[in-house]
Amino acid sequence: MPTTSLPSGGPIPVFGLGTWMMGESENKRTDEVAALKLGLDLGATLIDTAEMYGDGEAEEIVGDAIAGRREGLFLVSKVLPENASRKDTVAACERSLKRLRTDRIDLYLLHWRGSTPLQHTLDAFVQLQREGKIRHWGVSNFDTDDMEELLSLPGGDGCATNQVLYNLKRRRVEYDLVPLCRARDIPVMAYSPIEQGRLLGAAALKEVAQRQGTTTAQVALAWLLGRPGTIVIPKATKPDHVRENFGALDLTLSDDDLSVLDRAFPPPQKKYALEML
Ligand code: NAP
Repeated sequence: MPTTSLPSGGPIPVFGLGTWMMGESENKRTDEVAALKLGLDLGATLIDTAEMYGDGEAEEIVGDAIAGRREGLFLVSKVLPENASRKDTVAACERSLKRLRTDRIDLYLLHWRGSTPLQHTLDAFVQLQREGKIRHWGVSNFDTDDMEELLSLPGGDGCATNQVLYNLKRRRVEYDLVPLCRARDIPVMAYSPIEQGRLLGAAALKEVAQRQGTTTAQVALAWLLGRPGTIVIPKATKPDHVRENFGALDLTLSDDDLSVLDRAFPPPQKKYALEML
């Protein structure tokens, strides 16, 4: 699995498995565990989850999928803003560790910014790091001004990633947020990389997919993977989707392909506020 670098220099896989909407229905549980296991069998090492997903059930599903094969995996989870005080962040992390049935989370993110002062959450992250319960910490849904504020705090330069909505249709992060992260060697984790499936019928994607002999999902993922310091975390429960998404790792888009995509999905020419799903 190809990797990119964390600001500390360590590796982080550029492709992982998303888990939002997992754990919401008991009769899908077996398929969801199987999808994650299939992803791991195919070579994925990163799984993205959160205490929010399925109200903790998605972490339980990840726990089932990784049972007996924790070594070598890179687990990402997130604390909700309402749990982001010094004390509650530590307690939330400990609950996540129990559900995941592991002793450490590789990357622990603040899911989005709430009313808790950033320094308090940061202090909790540093404590969790010191105790070996998390290896790295980062944020999600942070716009440029939030990142600047975070990076100006004591210890704020320990931020290891910003996970944001980023795909061909959602390029506004390219104006100043991605450049800021690149300048600080902070990888950008692109969530909803195929816009939850809504991107896949686009004519430009079909044109490129046809030329490359691939699928539109693979083109959308390969486009993100071609951008330095970018990580994709598509979620798939259907086995065919899981397999198909891995195909993006073998696809390199040509300059012509990129021009077709730029024309259909132009990059931003001015600052727009960060979008969230
Ligand atoms: P996504 O990965 O863009 O799309 C997932 C949807 O696309 C599912 O309905 C899936 O169907 C379908 N799909 C997957 N592969 C496909 C393929 N090859 N062809 C056709 N359809 C395909 O959306 P997402 O789940 O919103 O985002 C990915 C992950 O990012 C999440 O799961 C979560 O881990 C993370 N995320 C984070 C935040 C945040 O605030 N930090 C917000 C949103 C998402 P099946 O499941 O039926 O296969």
